[in-house]
Amino acid sequence: MVVCLIGACLVAAPLAADSIERVEVQRKGNLLHLEGRVLVEGQDGSLLLQTRDGMIWVLSAEEVQSRKALESPFEPLDAKALGDRLLEQLPAGFQVRTTDHYVIAFNTSEAYARWCSTLLERLYRAYFRFWEKRGLELHEPEFPLPVVIFDDQRGYAEFSRDELGEATSAVIGYYNFRTNHMVMFDLTGLAQASRTRRRRFSSTQIRQLLAQPGSERNVATIVHEATHQLAYNTGLQTRYAVTPFWLAEGLAIYFESPDLKNGTGWRTIGRVNRYRLREFQSNLRHRPANRLEQILTDDSLFRSSKTGGAAYADAWALTYYLIRKRPKDFVAYLREFSKLQPLENLSAEQRLRQFRKYFGSDLEELDRTVIRYMSRLR
Ligand SMILES: [Zn+2]
Repeated sequence: MVVCLIGACLVAAPLAADSIERVEVQRKGNLLHLEGRVLVEGQDGSLLLQTRDGMIWVLSAEEVQSRKALESPFEPLDAKALGDRLLEQLPAGFQVRTTDHYVIAFNTSEAYARWCSTLLERLYRAYFRFWEKRGLELHEPEFPLPVVIFDDQRGYAEFSRDELGEATSAVIGYYNFRTNHMVMFDLTGLAQASRTRRRRFSSTQIRQLLAQPGSERNVATIVHEATHQLAYNTGLQTRYAVTPFWLAEGLAIYFESPDLKNGTGWRTIGRVNRYRLREFQSNLRHRPANRLEQILTDDSLFRSSKTGGAAYADAWALTYYLIRKRPKDFVAYLREFSKLQPLENLSAEQRLRQFRKYFGSDLEELDRTVIRYMSRLR
């Protein structure tokens, strides 16, 4: 799930932002002193400001009290400093573990944090290999990637409610493109049959618990959200630009397929996603002829619980087909989106024009081809 928190639209050209500014901000009765680079400046004085921890602040003109350019260039925090920043933002009792690319703050067991970091680093390597093999140029993340793991659902729900509101407390993890954080909780609690007593598990027990079939979707969720985080940090997508939902979600689902035979519950990218395939096939009977056009242009289908399941399955099927059968066109198409600047959004007509440029003008014919291809998958 990608969470969009932007309230109002800023209209302005993006700036080349290599120098740092000190911005005084009045927000909810507090005076904040932020240091960062201005990504976008609105004509009315509103700002999109990125601080050194990678967070992006949407500041209205009224909130901005003063601005001062500093001499020093913009530099991301290193892993240690980012870890300290995370600890300031979290309740007491958290500690930090850093790996090559991640800064993981957790208040659950060391063993669980280790299990997660192994999974994340494995995904990281597989992700770069995957795109390199297909000729898509990506860059390493500019910021260490921040991850927060709560020991149980309660602490997580409280934190995510503050960040995102009520609706999201039901999901087991999310990536927030405002903070750049991936947030989740220890899944061994969900995987454990009886929860009468809090327990700490060893690495082996964690692997066994999360290799149970019931954990499959949970592990998939971690990989899914981590894929969103990678996409927004490596130049595949731009935070605060609107990538069509089908594409952002289709890619995250394409990466997520779990593999229960493996110790981390996940091994490789692009296996057939049984769960989404079943959903896709079960909706075929009622599929309208213009379904592809709907999926390409109407992001609201993904947000409603009534239509979301089918939309996610269709997004996966389309992505699966295009990566398998039209890889060169798909990569060329992706390059168009990696060029988007923050706050850029394509209209429905622009989305269709861009899609047709790479995959042909007859969308209904393409949809029939995708259905035929997916029907043969086992
Ligand atoms: Zn998602």
